[in-house]
Amino acid sequence: MTDDIDIYYDDDADSTVLDDKTVAVLGYGSQGHAHAQNLDDSGVDVVVGLRESSSSREAARSDGLDVATPRNAAEQADIVSVLVPDTVQPDVYEKIRDVMTEGDTLQFAHGFNIHYGQIEPDDGVNVTMVAPKSPGHLVRRNYENNEGTPGLLAVYRDATGHANEIGLAYAKAIGCTRAGVIETSFREETESDLFGEQAVLCGGVTSLVKTAYETLVDNGYSREMAYFECLNELKLIVDLMYEGGNSEMWDSVSDTAEYGGLTRGDRVIDDHARERMDEILEEIQDGTFAREWITENQAGRPSYRQIRAAEKNHDIEDVGEDLRALFAWGEE
Ligand code: NAD
Ligand code: MG
Repeated sequence: MTDDIDIYYDDDADSTVLDDKTVAVLGYGSQGHAHAQNLDDSGVDVVVGLRESSSSREAARSDGLDVATPRNAAEQADIVSVLVPDTVQPDVYEKIRDVMTEGDTLQFAHGFNIHYGQIEPDDGVNVTMVAPKSPGHLVRRNYENNEGTPGLLAVYRDATGHANEIGLAYAKAIGCTRAGVIETSFREETESDLFGEQAVLCGGVTSLVKTAYETLVDNGYSREMAYFECLNELKLIVDLMYEGGNSEMWDSVSDTAEYGGLTRGDRVIDDHARERMDEILEEIQDGTFAREWITENQAGRPSYRQIRAAEKNHDIEDVGEDLRALFAWGEE
């Protein structure tokens, strides 16, 4: 077993640390709604911070939560959980900066803005991260089912000597220590998260699927067959990998699939792909990617819009839409 990482469970966390504290949850999206409701159900004093114009205000109120502007919420709070989109966090932080007083805690669910210096909190403020390794609706659903969601804990700055305890108590209150919380750093979380989503989870896998789909279609195979083989069946494979790692997948497929996969996979993802991965990781580590993404946002996202539109127009989207309408395979 891995013994070089610390994993925290419920018994390692002291909930009483939050007894006399108020938590402001800024944002009520995927993570925000889950953190706010789980904290509230755990008996923590919560106020949700949303703009006057925010359409989420109604939702937070009907979930029984107090709502204020981000600035007012932060002013009332000892712990401010920043759960607005990463790209708007620096602006939101400017609005609350001067109400973050010494001894307060600025809490994140992803390290991007701290790690790349887009938010520079004052010295007296704790900076922590509790990042559930799951979308918000699962963080909420697991909590309601008395189950946990694995999470990460990191302390960027311990101004009070209690940052770790506060982070752990927060992780417990949102249900993460029920499943286990791994200690990490802002740097490690940010860089590995970006690399994972670029090389595998979002970028690598979609490019692999599209290229394989195009290869079959260009060679005269039907679009429908290509869709099933290269995209749809991926879920069955990933479910096996999720359950028992690569080996459970290899055990479950036919010997032909196993032999073919073992002898051909590394020809697709070859040394060239490995060099590209190194390059992509370097761009994350040296800040090239972060600068590009920040500049892109400042410019109003011109290339992002274009690339996104091109991706939506890919043939695999049309055939997928038709097939999903014809066949009955459900959500869950
Ligand atoms: P989201 O996009 O789902 O929700 C953001 C919410 O912020 C919106 O619902 C709205 O209430 C508010 N908001 C939007 N624009 C705003 C603005 N200009 N000013 C003020 N408020 C605004 O965000 P999310 O996915 O929950 O991400 C929040 C944080 O959690 C990010 O740091 C993200 O990296 C991190 N995170 C997300 C996930 C995930 O699966 N979604 C997982 C782990 C960590
Ligand atoms: Mg991620």
